[in-house]
Amino acid sequence: MRLVFLGAPGVGKGTQADKAVVQYHIHKISTGDLLREAVRNKTHLGLEAKEHMDQGRLVPDAVVIGLVQEKLADPSYANGFILDGFPRTVPQAEALAKVLAERSLHLDRVINFSVSREDIVKRLSGRRSCPKCQATYHVEFAPSKNGNLCERCGEALVQRSDDQREAIETRLRVYDEQTAPLINFYEKQRLLSHLNGAEAVETVYHNLVKALAAPQTA
Ligand code: AMP
Repeated sequence: MRLVFLGAPGVGKGTQADKAVVQYHIHKISTGDLLREAVRNKTHLGLEAKEHMDQGRLVPDAVVIGLVQEKLADPSYANGFILDGFPRTVPQAEALAKVLAERSLHLDRVINFSVSREDIVKRLSGRRSCPKCQATYHVEFAPSKNGNLCERCGEALVQRSDDQREAIETRLRVYDEQTAPLINFYEKQRLLSHLNGAEAVETVYHNLVKALAAPQTA
């Protein structure tokens, strides 16, 4: 199964992808996670990406396309994958189609998750993560039992620099301008299913499994 999870930052794509990869025995490719890892490791790519990411802007297409191309060439992705946070622009979607066509592959489904703006801002601004084990929390909806320390490893939790208010506003504007056009792009290809991401995690996941089992009718 080859899937794309589409939606604004904070709609829960990553959480749903983490659940689906276990059930469907496929891999997740999150460009956000790959870029954050590169930033942590201070690689050349990480240093280039950091400034864009901190401000909530997109990293240049060529950089993320290269990252995804490299992953898709790995045989462990042959069984299928979920792309989480990629593509985010029409040129990225076109590049993905080209890479897949070169391997005689195609996407099976694109899932578009939606959540109101107000809820997205609440979700992102309250998000905290552990810089050591990457566990994630939310100050209101999923607080750590250890206060500001990670439940798993005791490290002090941090807020992602791009989860600060100004960067959130930029990320949402970038989403509207550059990523939202992909809804139409994939709708035209009859690949799109819509899911309400505002419901409880388990409810969204239940609806996701149902959508993936149903024949594509869009
Ligand atoms: P995410 O964790 O998916 O919200 O991504 C965090 C940040 O990484 C984004 O705000 C962008 O700066 C960068 N990023 C992730 N995926 C992409 C992409 N497909 N294209 C460009 N930049 C990306």
